[in-house]
Amino acid sequence: MTETTTRQNLLELDREGLELFFVDTLGEKRFRAHQVMKWIHHRHVTTFEEMTDLGKALRTKLEAHSEIRVPAIQFDKPSVDGTHKWLVGMDGSNAIETVFIPDKGRGTLCVSSQVGCALNCQFCSTATQGFNRNLSTAEIIGQVWIAARHLGNVPHRQRKLTNVVMMGMGEPLMNFDNVVRAMSVMRDDLGYGLANKRVTLSTAGMVPMIDRLGEESDVSLAVSLHAPNDELRTQLVPLNKKYPIAELMDACVRYALRKKGESVTFEYTLMKGVNDQPEHARELVALLRAFDRAVQMKDAAKINLIPFNPFPGTRYARPDDEVIRAFQKQLNSAGMIAPVRRTRGDDIDAACGQLKGQVADRTRRQAEFNKQLQAQGNADAAA
Ligand code: SF4
Repeated sequence: MTETTTRQNLLELDREGLELFFVDTLGEKRFRAHQVMKWIHHRHVTTFEEMTDLGKALRTKLEAHSEIRVPAIQFDKPSVDGTHKWLVGMDGSNAIETVFIPDKGRGTLCVSSQVGCALNCQFCSTATQGFNRNLSTAEIIGQVWIAARHLGNVPHRQRKLTNVVMMGMGEPLMNFDNVVRAMSVMRDDLGYGLANKRVTLSTAGMVPMIDRLGEESDVSLAVSLHAPNDELRTQLVPLNKKYPIAELMDACVRYALRKKGESVTFEYTLMKGVNDQPEHARELVALLRAFDRAVQMKDAAKINLIPFNPFPGTRYARPDDEVIRAFQKQLNSAGMIAPVRRTRGDDIDAACGQLKGQVADRTRRQAEFNKQLQAQGNADAAA
């Protein structure tokens, strides 16, 4: 084994883990961990000799036991509309995409959690590539590090990166521990200092893990709904067979009640002739109104309408503009705010649902899907 593989990559650790590493492995004081965390995440430093407020002896010790290894950028492309995409290499044959989307007064980074995805949602570009593996904490927070350095982001001062959405490649709740640890660094003052509600985790509906997320983290929750009834949703999001809409909505109610006063966002990708008809809007209104009643809060459910972004080989299409407007109007008439997400980064394929990367598909998707759900079932039974 080479020295590199035995050294602790400090990007793997949140504040608690870094403190433990300093105390248990280095025999140092906790506050030294805080200094190093700031060097890494505020000043984007990757060598210990640059950490000038640490003594020479500590820097030598750090060098011997640890490293700061950021994933390699393979490709870096700005869009004419200010969107910026990075293709980030995770190992020899795999890469994921990270996208920064600036908007009025805010900058949102869309972060990936897995190389590929096993859930096989029928309208998703990532799903066509299969699944390889979970990303490590370092590979997840490394995406934020790369964007923050590029943007010259300084937490609490020059804040260009204001929001993170875990909506890139992968189902984040299937990589729970690594994602929660990375989100803890995003929200830590010694990390990226983002408020809880500015970090959003988006799930296709892993019901038991939504409950666990509610217990262990305070981030905003978004749910990829895409259909208002089980028959249609099971076609579009196969996970719905295991966790149907009623169970999913109950889990969302429990999450919202636990985070008093926080709304849950439901994402609805509009596909031509599939889920864009007046009856779908009616069902959707009924579903979300029931959610508001259960949470006992007006507008507890937020809805985002996302016109489908076609990609090569898909059988789905974007609805015509008037159909999108009519769908939105029907929701508005029922008293719901239903923004239609603008397509951004079209010229660099950075639009939602177009994150591609390069995935060395390790398994047959269905087998991997079943395996992950089986593991999930075992974890539930043990809980
Ligand atoms: S929509 Fe999300 S959960 Fe579904 S296949 Fe794509 S990346 Fe996976």
